[in-house]
Amino acid sequence: MTANNARILIIGGGFGGLFTALDLSDAGEITLINDEDHFLFKPMLYEYLSGEVEAWHIAPECKELLDEKVRFVQGKVTNIDLDAGVVSVAGRAEPLSYDVLVFAPGAVTNYAGIEGAEEFSLPFRALNDANRLRRRMTEALDHVQPDAAPQDTRSALTFAVVGGGASGVELSTKMADLLRDAVKRRALKGEPRVLIIEMADRLVPGMGEDLRRFVEGALHESRIEVHTQTRVVRVTERTITSNTISNTLNWRRRASSGSPACALVRWLRASKLKKIGADCSWLSARCKRVNIRTSLRLATWLFIRTSCPPLREPPNSHFRSQDCAPAMCARSSKRNH
Ligand SMILES: Cc1cc2nc3c(=O)[nH]c(=O)nc-3n(C[C@H](O)[C@H](O)[C@H](O)COP(=O)(O)OP(=O)(O)OC[C@H]3O[C@@H](n4cnc5c(N)ncnc54)[C@H](O)[C@@H]3O)c2cc1C
Repeated sequence: MTANNARILIIGGGFGGLFTALDLSDAGEITLINDEDHFLFKPMLYEYLSGEVEAWHIAPECKELLDEKVRFVQGKVTNIDLDAGVVSVAGRAEPLSYDVLVFAPGAVTNYAGIEGAEEFSLPFRALNDANRLRRRMTEALDHVQPDAAPQDTRSALTFAVVGGGASGVELSTKMADLLRDAVKRRALKGEPRVLIIEMADRLVPGMGEDLRRFVEGALHESRIEVHTQTRVVRVTERTITSNTISNTLNWRRRASSGSPACALVRWLRASKLKKIGADCSWLSARCKRVNIRTSLRLATWLFIRTSCPPLREPPNSHFRSQDCAPAMCARSSKRNH
């Protein structure tokens, strides 16, 4: 085997997978597998929700972004066999073999076992999530009668965003703007009500005081209700039950009673690794996490088979061979026992 024909299989065509494929394009035979045909630039999902950009602006086809040296396979990976070094893809009879496996399937929203959360709230990670949220907002607006009293408008247009990180803050302001514009356009009386519910004692934890003050000012201007130190414990179709974090005051509040919708938002820090196959517990024992872009929180794992030919390090790569070394050692020591 020559140095540049290692079979490098990348699962996931998000930031982690796509940039790994681009960076490694000279290092071996690269295959990128993604369940969707497109990449999604998630930081602009809010602008897609508001109609400021269209799907083609933020979700170009993976094939368009990859160079011709990378083979693209669209399909859902259903199983990974680390011992055999093969990956099964739905609808393909033969599994795909690899020498190096890059595992970058992203994350899923972590509902933390909260009753009703998964069933009755909306995540906000994909184009379809934004489509569903836009539909829910339109349906809620359609329910408001032209002569409704202000308090009825407010009740019908109550939306809660759970999670006061950067994502929750950005989404809530976008929703408040959209709803307020629609109320004005439809000449309705009253105001929408948008809440942020955050477990911590402050918004945008970890972002510094100056930024927090700026965020609080922006939320105040957008008339968004902020409830910190508040933990959601139950979600139904029309209500959210929450407790304050303080033990002395354990109240229940129907924060959004009469609300037709609750959008659940979680930052990646509060997300869970996406599972592929029945069990992902092998990951922690047998993997090396690689941060490919320091500016993004990426969950990318790397597996290298002992029989893998040496990898050539492409120039200017963010994917350094030194990242591979511990993974290779872990793999070799497992094989030797
Ligand atoms: C609304 C929103 C706004 C954000 N804004 C910012 C921001 O401003 N700045 C910032 O730094 N970060 C931001 N983030 C976080 C950032 O988008 C993530 O950190 C980044 O997308 C993670 O990249 P990833 O490659 O690990 O996963 P992803 O981008 O989620 O990509 C994973 C890919 O794997 C595919 N996949 C999953 N399972 C399978 C399977 N079984 N088979 C095949 N393919 C599969 C998925 O379809 C997806 O295409 C934001 C996130 C969201 C949701």
